[in-house]
Amino acid sequence: MTAEIIDGKGFAAKVTDRVADHVSRLKTDHGVTPGLAVVLVGEDPASQVYVSSKGKRTKESGMASFEHRLDAAASEMDLLNLIERLNGDPAVHGILVQLPLPGHLDDAKVINAIAPEKDVDGFHVSNVGLLGTGQKSMVPCTPLGCLMMLRERHGSLSGLDAVVIGRSNIVGKPMAQLLLGDSCTVTVAHSRTKDLPEVVRRADIVVAAVGRPEIVPGGWIKEGATVIDVGINRVDAGGGKTRLVGDVEFDGARRRAGAITPVPGGVGPMTIACLLANTVTACCRINGLPEPEGLAV
Ligand code: NDP
Repeated sequence: MTAEIIDGKGFAAKVTDRVADHVSRLKTDHGVTPGLAVVLVGEDPASQVYVSSKGKRTKESGMASFEHRLDAAASEMDLLNLIERLNGDPAVHGILVQLPLPGHLDDAKVINAIAPEKDVDGFHVSNVGLLGTGQKSMVPCTPLGCLMMLRERHGSLSGLDAVVIGRSNIVGKPMAQLLLGDSCTVTVAHSRTKDLPEVVRRADIVVAAVGRPEIVPGGWIKEGATVIDVGINRVDAGGGKTRLVGDVEFDGARRRAGAITPVPGGVGPMTIACLLANTVTACCRINGLPEPEGLAV
């Protein structure tokens, strides 16, 4: 068996097109332009790249992009004041604070200061609670993208056996909630799980979000299973070069799975597409306008 490669890049392009269409309709029909504010504290090089790319993609889809860069030494009060201003700004429908924050700032306090309806990352405790109780919420971008790909492949996920490897607040836990919401039987595995191979072997759906290169050998994958590899790991490729690999051993898994996401080109592109989707969704909800089809849970 050779698995179908799930084209995250192609799917993300379709999602982005749908976002751009809806943005254009919001402008012409309602005179509303969705706006995303991204806040970066400090000069972490990787974060700077992410923030610039988010701003660029936001503008390309027709939305307004607001970038706020604070000095690494910014105080908690500076940051909370900025968030309060953005919460009250009618041109801003989504607020994203780029993580990680410098060590002197409390991530949870800062995230929970964002107005929940503008929390496009879905990390605010209110959104976590709403998702956990099956109510309409802002959903974290990476798990939302994974769910969209799974629904596209399977249609209904009802009754499928799913394992999520990883229990972080940004990927593993919300992913498990979403799969439960779609009536999967969900197992959440983590570093203390006793028999990970056995847990993976019985799963129709494997979502790996660990951050360890190829920790899941292909031989563990059940024949025909769908594998969503969230992990992004840089490994030595020899000759002083590096390459990206996922948490799943791709070549081996490809021989057993029914479908698998590649790294890169799988979950990564869907994450940013879902950020754009969440911004449009937030804008519609804030303005009491109909939401675009298929871009939210
Ligand atoms: P975290 O480090 O927050 O969480 C990792 C999880 O993996 C933890 O729950 C940990 O368990 C679990 N784990 C660690 N070792 C093992 C093991 N040996 N067996 C089973 N489980 C284990 O990572 P994130 O959730 O933030 O990210 C996971 C990966 O996804 C990373 O590679 C990250 O770069 C990538 N990522 C990719 C995104 C994308 O857009 N494609 C977006 C976000 C993340 P425990 O809780 O017990 O410590």
